[in-house]
Amino acid sequence: MKNNFEKKKLYSFDKNYSSTIFFKEPDKYREIEKFSKLSKEIITTGANYSYSPAAFGEGSLSLMLKRFDRILNFDLKKKEITVESGLILSKFLNFLLKNNLWIPQIPGYPFITLGGAVAANSHGKSCGTHGTIRNSIKGILLFHKTNGWLELSEEKNKDIFDLTIGGLGLTGTIVNITFKLSSLEHKQFNTTIDEVTSVKDCIKKIKQEYLEDTFIYSWNRADNIKNFGKGFIFKNTINNKTSKNFRKIIEKKKKQRFSSTICSME
Ligand SMILES: Cc1cc2nc3c(=O)[nH]c(=O)nc-3n(C[C@H](O)[C@H](O)[C@H](O)COP(=O)(O)OP(=O)(O)OC[C@H]3O[C@@H](n4cnc5c(N)ncnc54)[C@H](O)[C@@H]3O)c2cc1C
Repeated sequence: MKNNFEKKKLYSFDKNYSSTIFFKEPDKYREIEKFSKLSKEIITTGANYSYSPAAFGEGSLSLMLKRFDRILNFDLKKKEITVESGLILSKFLNFLLKNNLWIPQIPGYPFITLGGAVAANSHGKSCGTHGTIRNSIKGILLFHKTNGWLELSEEKNKDIFDLTIGGLGLTGTIVNITFKLSSLEHKQFNTTIDEVTSVKDCIKKIKQEYLEDTFIYSWNRADNIKNFGKGFIFKNTINNKTSKNFRKIIEKKKKQRFSSTICSME
């Protein structure tokens, strides 16, 4: 069967790899079901901000969920939220921080989708304390083209739940996610920056400085052997004295990275 698909060229984040792919952008649940069956080679694509080309392949069909970006349920008392997986981090945080809530496992780019973060089992800047995003997930609604709709949690389909978090889209399409939220009373950090001379020095200093609720990470050079490991440690501690509101996180990127055309695929 011949289908009309849009086609575009996608790049890995580091621009080392590019491919021409076919794509569909469903905006209804039944379109996810329909489009998932159109090709043998199908992968769900979030915002495509992975460093490697994890979310696309030459000639394959990418199911892009950018229209699935709604907040479906929010329970302030229970501290739980259900969102569609195409929602980007900045919109998620701008909503939650108004309510003094968040999840502490936030990867460092505002346009990453929650589906992409879950499929990569991402972490934030305090992974020593808070682990990966897995620790904040209560449930997932997954669609698989052969197995249909599946509710996943510690109680339901636990084996597939475990495989889906960090599964890079290989168990199907993550459509909704329910998160357990954490409180965040203060929205500012005090940041100190320390210079390090090598990887060894960096690890030693991080271990010395490590405290519960400290958001600590390093930036190290890897561009040449002579300076390998030189860099800085950033240590962020929550500023308990500030009561100022947070600055709204930017939600829109200025430049469009891709162009598209219509073509057909077997
Ligand atoms: C500037 C920058 C900073 C970053 N900082 C961090 C960090 O601090 N910590 C960290 O852990 N990571 C970090 N990352 C990596 C990032 O968290 C992951 O690459 C994440 O997967 C990107 O999300 P995305 O929406 O772009 O997903 P994509 O790149 O589109 O997809 C990533 C993978 O998830 C799958 N996928 C996407 N959406 C779905 C879905 N709805 N259902 C099923 N599978 C899906 C794809 O098939 C693919 O395998 C950073 C990336 C960048 C570019």
